[in-house]
Amino acid sequence: MSAARTAPQPMTAAPMTARQILDRLVAFPTVSRDSNLDLIAWVEAYLASYGVTSERVWNEDRTKAALFANVGPGLPGGVILSGHSDVVPVDGQDWTSDPWTVTEREGRLYGRGTCDMKGFLALALAAVPKALAAGVKRPLQLAISYDEEVGCTGAPPMIARIVEALPRAAAVVVGEPSRMRLVNGHKGGTGFRVHVKGFEVHSSLLPTGVSAIMEAARLVTWVNDQNAAIMAATPGTMAALFHPPHTTLHVGRIEGGTAHNITAADCRFLMESRVVPGESAEGWAQAFEAEAARLDADLKARRPGAGVTVERFFNVPALTPETDGAAEALVRRLTGDNGSDVVSYGTEAGHFQAVGLSCVVCGPGDIAQAHQADEYLELSEFQAGERFMDALIRELAA
Ligand SMILES: [Zn+2]
Repeated sequence: MSAARTAPQPMTAAPMTARQILDRLVAFPTVSRDSNLDLIAWVEAYLASYGVTSERVWNEDRTKAALFANVGPGLPGGVILSGHSDVVPVDGQDWTSDPWTVTEREGRLYGRGTCDMKGFLALALAAVPKALAAGVKRPLQLAISYDEEVGCTGAPPMIARIVEALPRAAAVVVGEPSRMRLVNGHKGGTGFRVHVKGFEVHSSLLPTGVSAIMEAARLVTWVNDQNAAIMAATPGTMAALFHPPHTTLHVGRIEGGTAHNITAADCRFLMESRVVPGESAEGWAQAFEAEAARLDADLKARRPGAGVTVERFFNVPALTPETDGAAEALVRRLTGDNGSDVVSYGTEAGHFQAVGLSCVVCGPGDIAQAHQADEYLELSEFQAGERFMDALIRELAA
């Protein structure tokens, strides 16, 4: 003991543990509506301290950035570990402890983003010095996005740049919480902002006006009718894997009108589709837009200033289970998971697959804890994630 105490200290500090990195990441309140640049700068400096260069991919107004890096040799055949840096808000949620401080209680790590998905990012970053020390023969590549929680909009430009700039990876693992189970499929979907413009008259003169609310209700009814028809049909083989075993269409927000006795000038609502792989998300989008166009023409015929506009605000491609996929085989080897699962939530995996990269979802934690007050990651999940990273490094070093 005393000899160790008097021994010269190494010049460089010991690498940070995954847990220490998680503490740092959670302390950046990277809610999607706010900038993530402080977190990105910290990760850049962390990587630079190991001589790893990284590249930012900025959003339009340069308030946010994605970051990617190649760790190890500049060769093809590596593995991309991908996660988003943004988290959902804590507004109005009742937290037992500070959401921006990781707090350990009863074998759980509490804090916003511990589960979704800074836990995975911390594990991936902690793997960097280990990969370098192991002398990996194929690279470990990191991809950290923004704006995942508001429609996966930060990932596509990042992925486009990765395809240009990095040696092509053999597999991508998106570390969304899956309890370290292999997830090889998820639904895709599209979000729509709908604005119905009416024409205001006193409600006693209803036939001469256009109630934006009552016309918007026709589109909402169309959505209900589609769901009823979908649910009445027998699910296909792919759809049958999902809960629920079909595509769903949903209206999540609606607003409009001024008074009980004025035909509403405006009604706005948000619609989303969640489409099973194998069905065309674009087909569903076009069907909805065609219905909106029919209503638009109808309203304009009554009042030229009235009408309907539809804007797509997100598009998440489905993750389709691959036949003999490299990413699936890799995760099976690393986790020993011989089963496979599909999930109904969207992730960035569909975007990776859309550019031809083999991709699956596998990460620590349970999606049930994501987005909740007192979000937590079980320590046992965090440790399973660490074992996954160690196994990955052994594979890349072999
Ligand atoms: Zn997530």
